[in-house]
Amino acid sequence: MTKKLLGIDLGGTTIKFGILTLDGQVQEKWAIETNILEGGKHIVPDIVASLKHRLALYGLTKDDFVGIGMGSPGAVDREKKTVTGAFNLNWADTQEVGSVIEREVGIPFAIDNDANVAALGERWVGAGANNPDVVFVTLGTGVGGGVIADGNLIHGVAGAGGEIGHIIVEPEDGFECTCGNKGCLETVASATGVVRVARHLAEEYEGDSLIKAAIDNGEAVSSKDIFQAAAQGDKFADSVVEKVSYYLGLATANISNILNPDSVVIGGGVSAAGEFLRSRVENYFTKYAFPQVRRSTKVKIAELGNDAGIIGAASLASQFIK
Ligand SMILES: [Zn+2]
Repeated sequence: MTKKLLGIDLGGTTIKFGILTLDGQVQEKWAIETNILEGGKHIVPDIVASLKHRLALYGLTKDDFVGIGMGSPGAVDREKKTVTGAFNLNWADTQEVGSVIEREVGIPFAIDNDANVAALGERWVGAGANNPDVVFVTLGTGVGGGVIADGNLIHGVAGAGGEIGHIIVEPEDGFECTCGNKGCLETVASATGVVRVARHLAEEYEGDSLIKAAIDNGEAVSSKDIFQAAAQGDKFADSVVEKVSYYLGLATANISNILNPDSVVIGGGVSAAGEFLRSRVENYFTKYAFPQVRRSTKVKIAELGNDAGIIGAASLASQFIK
């Protein structure tokens, strides 16, 4: 019987699970709530319990699986299979993850950072079309990234490789970033970053705009509202999208000038704007990319949505295929 892969996408609100074929097709998927109470001490036992329950439900045993892969927030130690400083899980201290799951479930386990894992997913069966050179940028609460070069995920000496969110795009008077620097891509292209750019531009905008009026009235405005208004012809909202696209085009062109990937794939919640965002990013990408890069590297929108995490996580487990 053909073996399967298990992928786990650990997030601050839900833990997603998937059972996949060896070529990346999702056969079963489910999710549980992440219980971050009491220092997140229930998370790993909840994962173990859910795996045991579902495997029994599907009539599967550990021998049906090649391995388990998992994507996690925080700083991941791939050798020790531990996670440190995942604050949205209440995991401030180092957590034993892999050793517990391997012992309890009896299946080999591999772990990596969540943005890296999503990059692997998109590269494998999503917009990356299994190409060996793919750069992934995810625009969500923050801006994450993953770089796959010559088929290898780039980790760097301290595991901080591929931190595309901290490429500086506004070195002089940029917004302050959670990393301590100023003007990082994350400060202007995450969901909150887009709103921050809007607030900044609203100070000087003279014309009529429902979005500007909402900002000036102190109403809550989301990045989705801004993209929708821009698509409907709001000129102020359009100027915000244009500015965000400029930052993304500049950052992706600079990464591509070094790596010349087959594609730069833009994912995450903000990428739901689709072609409206992609074509504008591409305009600035084309402006700033080196000629050969401009002609060969493509700017794409991610295709897997929420499944990128479980699919990429499962791909980590394919290292256990003998
Ligand atoms: Zn930063």
